[in-house]
Amino acid sequence: MRIILLGPPGAGKGTQSTRIVERLGIPQLSTGDMLRAAVAAGTPVGLEAKSIMESGGLVTDSVVVGIVADRIEEADARGGFILDGFPRTVEQAAALDRMLSEKGLALTTVVEFVVDEEALVGRIAKRAAETAARGEPVRKDDTPEVFKTRLSAYRTQTAPLSAYYASLGMLQTIDGMKPVEAVTEDLFAILDAHVAGATS
Ligand code: AMP
Repeated sequence: MRIILLGPPGAGKGTQSTRIVERLGIPQLSTGDMLRAAVAAGTPVGLEAKSIMESGGLVTDSVVVGIVADRIEEADARGGFILDGFPRTVEQAAALDRMLSEKGLALTTVVEFVVDEEALVGRIAKRAAETAARGEPVRKDDTPEVFKTRLSAYRTQTAPLSAYYASLGMLQTIDGMKPVEAVTEDLFAILDAHVAGATS
């Protein structure tokens, strides 16, 4: 299965990805995680991405498309993957389509988490407080100010992807405001239907 999870920052894509990883055994490809690793390692990509990420903007399409192209070549991604945080622009989505079709592959589904943006600001503050309470470093882009910039980047650059995937007949939506367990249930109902469709 090749799954895209779409939704604003703080919508729960990361949490639900972990559950898909456990259940389906396919890797979560989070461009945010990959970029944070590049920043920590001080690679050329990391050096380019660092200040953009700290300000809440989007890293350039060519950089992100490059890291995803490399990552999906890896052995563990051959049987499928979950894309979390990618694509984030229509240009990235088109690049992904090209990447997959060159390999004779297709996406299985795109699941959008529909959430109330006001509530997300509170959610992200909670995530930052919990991380700090565990003694772990808090993401620099999880402050309320930067988070608002990230939301605005989502609205202007990423939200058009809903229409893009809907026009391809690929978009499915779930209510991301439900409790975590209920969101997981809704998500697996969608994924299980694809498994059944593929084997029947
Ligand atoms: P995330 O962990 O998905 O919230 O991503 C954290 C930050 O990494 C974003 O605010 C962007 O600066 C950058 N980033 C992650 N994925 C992408 C992407 N697909 N395109 C551009 N920038 C990205």
